[in-house]
Amino acid sequence: SVMREEKIKKTKTVCTFCGVGCSFNIWTKGREILKVEPQLESPANGISTCVKGKFGWDFVNSEERLTKPLIREGDTFREAEWEEALSLVSRKFKEIKEEHGPDALTFISSSKCTNEESYLMQKLARGVIGTNNIDNCSRYCQTPATMGLSRTVGYGGDAGTIKDIETAGLVLIVGSNTAESHPVLATRVKRSHKLKGQKLIVADIRKHEMAERSDLFIQPRPGSDIVWLSAVTKYIIDQGWADEQFLRDRVNGMEEYVENLQKFTLEYAEETTGISKETLIKIAEMIHGAKSAVILWAMGVTQHLGGSDTSTAISNLLLVTGNYGKPGSGAYPLRGHNNVQGASDFGSMPNQFPSYEKVKDDKVRAKYEQAWGVKIPAEPGLNNHEMIKGIHDGNVKAMYVKGEEMGVVDSNINFVHEAFEKLDFFVVQDIFFSRTAQFADVVLPASPSLEKEGTFTNTERRIQRLYKVFEPLGDSKPDWEIIMAIANQLGAEWDYSHPSDIMAEAAQLAPLFAGVNYERLEGYKSLCWPVDADGSDSPLLFKEEFPFDDGKAKLYPVDWTEPLEYAEEYDIHVNNGRLLEHFHEGNLTYKSEGIKSKTPSTFLEVSPELAEERGLKDGTLVRLSTPYGNVKVKCHITDRVKGKEVYLPMNDSGEGAINLLTSSHADKDTDTPAYKEVKAKLEILSQE
Ligand code: SF4
Repeated sequence: SVMREEKIKKTKTVCTFCGVGCSFNIWTKGREILKVEPQLESPANGISTCVKGKFGWDFVNSEERLTKPLIREGDTFREAEWEEALSLVSRKFKEIKEEHGPDALTFISSSKCTNEESYLMQKLARGVIGTNNIDNCSRYCQTPATMGLSRTVGYGGDAGTIKDIETAGLVLIVGSNTAESHPVLATRVKRSHKLKGQKLIVADIRKHEMAERSDLFIQPRPGSDIVWLSAVTKYIIDQGWADEQFLRDRVNGMEEYVENLQKFTLEYAEETTGISKETLIKIAEMIHGAKSAVILWAMGVTQHLGGSDTSTAISNLLLVTGNYGKPGSGAYPLRGHNNVQGASDFGSMPNQFPSYEKVKDDKVRAKYEQAWGVKIPAEPGLNNHEMIKGIHDGNVKAMYVKGEEMGVVDSNINFVHEAFEKLDFFVVQDIFFSRTAQFADVVLPASPSLEKEGTFTNTERRIQRLYKVFEPLGDSKPDWEIIMAIANQLGAEWDYSHPSDIMAEAAQLAPLFAGVNYERLEGYKSLCWPVDADGSDSPLLFKEEFPFDDGKAKLYPVDWTEPLEYAEEYDIHVNNGRLLEHFHEGNLTYKSEGIKSKTPSTFLEVSPELAEERGLKDGTLVRLSTPYGNVKVKCHITDRVKGKEVYLPMNDSGEGAINLLTSSHADKDTDTPAYKEVKAKLEILSQE
């Protein structure tokens, strides 16, 4: 009734704009959002939020929201009812499976959707279709970090909590624009640095805010982090500063590791990275002198040909210095999307079930086969990089993408678009008619986080509940309901009445979440995995042991993979990343007027040196081109970048989209695109 609509309602939710996982009450009246109010008890953020969490929500009421299923007719789409859309989807899935086998179908889950939805998406792929071809967009960002940590310490997650970072003696940030990408987490570092004498070292090719605040800032050559990290580690060992007792009691593989490390001398590192020997020694001294150290890293490390190896080198350094298992220590790969962590945790990966249990493990497979009453293939499926290749090769015929703007964020997008066009059948499920949806045969309208219940897992492995603020707009539906409807059309008999039922099933099967249930997560309560059956959780990992057979961590030898080579004419290195105001490619924040008006279009950061050399001014329109495509963008001259280093923010899906420039080259161990290894030539199109 009108009376009820006018009541002010307060609902707890979790922010969807980054992996920090801020939680707050949203005040609403009808569909109007009155304010966002963080609570003292908000575990990740206390009473703070950043601009996106505070003002980024009006997209939920955007006129551009999808409110009806769409079915392609020639070059256009027509609106349809759910029944028609769902039976078309299930009929086509069935046909393709019968004709080409289950592995001709591929599934992409979303790191913006809930844990329960990622669980269901992998259950649909594995349990209903019968393929392990399921992946999520952590493949674009943090899979190399997960790999580096799995090799060395066993769990691919932050070693402690965000709050715990405050107690570290030293914070080392490598390849992360933390102040803009993880604002509320960065605030904690800024505060400790200013008030508690915490030391801060930043390694980046761009002088961003945290670099300006740091005690020591280094600008290594692009793609060379592994070399200086290894040289610093070697120097620490050579000086006798390694934590001998920790290594003896808790770590395997020292001998082989040290042998491989010998090539990383200070001289070699200086020559390769451009960082002087004196500075490398200074870094080693600062780490040695600190009571504890944490290392934060992000895409500047992972999106390279050797992204997994550099992540491994970070973890090796922490092991050598005994910086695991005590407060204020450990590895912090910073997750980008709100639920990057959870999408992988809950099994949307081609080689792993929920809880990172291996598809190849017969016992694990048997457990799921029994629980789901199906047969699951023993071979890992295709990751999203391989799916695109598979379409080009003619092996993949259908794709179901849920909540991912693959047609903008994947690398080498011209190649990706060509693949989309070759698909026999393409289903895109989203809240907006995305660039990716333009290629679809069927578009299914989903509901954003404010219109559903479920859980997200933030970068510190913290599982938090979100509550429904609004009813789904128009005919849109929560993703879990859509996946269940498709599964049931295909003959499954799923009867989840609420996301808590899905969590209950996952908790029974996946050891990391044994004690997770909705009561234990009520309101602002939260749990950091692993969670034992009795409900005790693990804010700080590795206190007594590492999750390997003998309880010990492993030092894992790694080598440098040299960056991609380009022909000489491609002489400009194009770095890329986020802006504070925008969420990734901007697909949500561009729909929020409050944010769009502040940062309307993209720009290219150019150093004063390069500007001088090429005659560039603020506003000069240039074309950057690589062998894969080109972008047009206006220049902004700034000393945040130096020399032939330019920076292109990633929040553009039109003529300035970074992935028109990127290649299909990828991290050798995980296939994460080498987004950061781009060289281009620059031409002036017009002066403003
Ligand atoms: Fe949202 Fe991240 Fe900002 Fe927190 S820091 S309000 S989670 S975008």
